[in-house]
Amino acid sequence: MKIHKAYKFRLYPTNNQVELIHKTFGCTRFVYNYCLDLKRNNKYLTKFDLMKELPKLKKEYQFLKEVDSCSLRNAITDLMVGFSKQENNQGGYPKFKKKGVKESFRTSFVTSSYKGRVYENIKVDLKRRVIELPKLKEVKIRGYRTLEKIPGRILNATIREVGIRFYVSLCVEEEIELPERTNNTSVGIDIGVKNLVVTSDKEYYGNPRYLDKYERKIKRLQQELSRKIKGSKNYIKCKKKIEEVYRKLKNARKKTVEAIVKQVTTYHDIIIAENLQVKKMLEKKNNHKRLRKEITNATFSEIIRILKYKCLWLNKTFIQVNSYYSSSQICSRCGNKNEEMKDIGVRELKCSKCGLEIERDYNASINILNEGLRSYNN
Ligand SMILES: [Zn+2]
Repeated sequence: MKIHKAYKFRLYPTNNQVELIHKTFGCTRFVYNYCLDLKRNNKYLTKFDLMKELPKLKKEYQFLKEVDSCSLRNAITDLMVGFSKQENNQGGYPKFKKKGVKESFRTSFVTSSYKGRVYENIKVDLKRRVIELPKLKEVKIRGYRTLEKIPGRILNATIREVGIRFYVSLCVEEEIELPERTNNTSVGIDIGVKNLVVTSDKEYYGNPRYLDKYERKIKRLQQELSRKIKGSKNYIKCKKKIEEVYRKLKNARKKTVEAIVKQVTTYHDIIIAENLQVKKMLEKKNNHKRLRKEITNATFSEIIRILKYKCLWLNKTFIQVNSYYSSSQICSRCGNKNEEMKDIGVRELKCSKCGLEIERDYNASINILNEGLRSYNN
């Protein structure tokens, strides 16, 4: 089976390379915003129409010629992806990109031959620990010390600046052999605020403490940021600090989630979780805890994201049960709906019909398991 895998390296650009990376951020943002403006005035413009603008733009704005042209085309592709997402109700109307906010650009792998020699625009040398990128030439990298070479075909490279660091993320197409199924057992998992994950095997994975720690840090820095003059040196410095905390939070979160997913997928072949759309909507009402919600939602999405691809790679079945299914209110033994469970403060379900006493999230995970198996067997 062919899969797409990401390899993320830290980049160590020279001062000149940093300058060129910043220029490329600026140019891709310029093209993106320019085309977004055109689309706002004429929604019928296609990707092809916008691509045709590029040569004209390059004539008018010479600085666009200094950067990798592939990254400019990808900026248009990304914009069009944004529009198609919006049309399919998967996202809002594309917004103008701002300087200094989540800056990145993507370049695609291109190979060409000239006079019998093959040229590749992205090359990784893991022995010398360098990556060759279009226009930037060789940049020092760090990461994947045990890897001798990239085990597949590079499709593209995304260059990002996060806080004070630079990264390159390579999207690689790899051929993998699917492992045999061994267990043939199934598990339901409930994802929640009190306990991050509770399984129908009665395994509890609590919410890690670091979430609180990082939340406090981000909150403090955001307050600091609000007192600074927008766009000033100190403002940008503070923004970078915030990005840095978010980066640490993301890394820690990924580790936690990967450990949980590993546990769950080791012992089971069918993994069933909820569709989280409704959960998110319900929680949006409470606005004064915006940051908390944001962090929680990102954690939930990360669990689903990692479960999805790990199940695919490990030859497991991943099922998501419908979001309208109220897994917390239904008694997992008799199916009676206990309305008082609507209050998320009630941690213990005492079924008014059959008398079952069971912890809220554990009960939900059994319901999720049953509901998932029902749809799986049909
Ligand atoms: Zn009952």
